[in-house]
Amino acid sequence: MTHLLVSHPACARDVNPIGHPERPQRLEAITRMLQRTELWERLPREEAVPAAADALRAVHASRHVEHVRRLSERGGGAIDLDTFVGPHSWEAAAAAAGAAVQAVDAVASGRAQTAFSLTRPPGHHASRDVAMGFCLFNNVALATHLAADRYGLERILLLDWDVHHGNGTQDIFYRDGRVTFVSLHQEHWFPGTGFADETGEGAGEGRTLNIPVPPETGNEGYRTLFEEIVIPLGDQWRPQLVVVSAGYDAHIDDPLGAMHVTAAGFGTMAHLVMEGAKRWCGGRVAAVLEGGYYLAALADSVAATIESMTGEPVPLANASSPPRETPYAAIRARAKEIRSIAGQYWNL
Ligand SMILES: [Zn+2]
Repeated sequence: MTHLLVSHPACARDVNPIGHPERPQRLEAITRMLQRTELWERLPREEAVPAAADALRAVHASRHVEHVRRLSERGGGAIDLDTFVGPHSWEAAAAAAGAAVQAVDAVASGRAQTAFSLTRPPGHHASRDVAMGFCLFNNVALATHLAADRYGLERILLLDWDVHHGNGTQDIFYRDGRVTFVSLHQEHWFPGTGFADETGEGAGEGRTLNIPVPPETGNEGYRTLFEEIVIPLGDQWRPQLVVVSAGYDAHIDDPLGAMHVTAAGFGTMAHLVMEGAKRWCGGRVAAVLEGGYYLAALADSVAATIESMTGEPVPLANASSPPRETPYAAIRARAKEIRSIAGQYWNL
């Protein structure tokens, strides 16, 4: 079965102001790392077809799409204090959106078993009409929405393990009963949303599950939350497709989060998702790159994720010198709290 890597050269041409953590070197570091592994030889790589403005309107307001396009054509400008549009941003953002669509479509159609969209800018903070948090268009939401429509999917699991809450993704699917959105993110952190009592509305009631995670949670804490909440939820939801908003800023070395996850920890999370997905939907998992700003950690963590997705033996979270992390009892207490809030919708 095929495992795809989808990217586009335009994603490396877009630059933010000097000193900005979201930079082209992120993709270069990941690519260099993958080239050093055996994966590179046996991982088919596709260049994405950039998303057209019309396609972006499936999840974004026309005025938002036009605003980004015009601002980029005029040479760029600031959208907020940390989100910028430059002369190459339109091209890069359209390519990142197109790559996510291509990766998710390949998996939904059965053309590939798994796919990873290796692009920037990231997307999960972008809502229907607002760009923020380095994100211009919501790549993962667009791809998930189009796949649900095209293949008539009724149950998709969209899992977001970036250290920041995927507020844009949550907003886009908040009233959509086809997508169960599960986000693990650092509590009381940017962008200030993602509380456990945000559970969806209307047709989407009960289809949003937020897991705010205490700072300094590491591999074991995340594994506990996966084993006690994420995977049991998947066992009940029986998704037809799994899509991952794969951010790596929960890594212990990342400057934008305070978590203690290592590359092996991300490999373990991907492994747990793959094992679940094999039971739920023939192992159909598509992942889309979000954050991750310490280059070496990002590169190692993406490689570990792709290794798990392609069925490589997983170097499980190394027990020899595990980083200090939030005490197990605190994580168990948090898991219990989340299960009780989710209890009106899920039997976890
Ligand atoms: Zn992030």
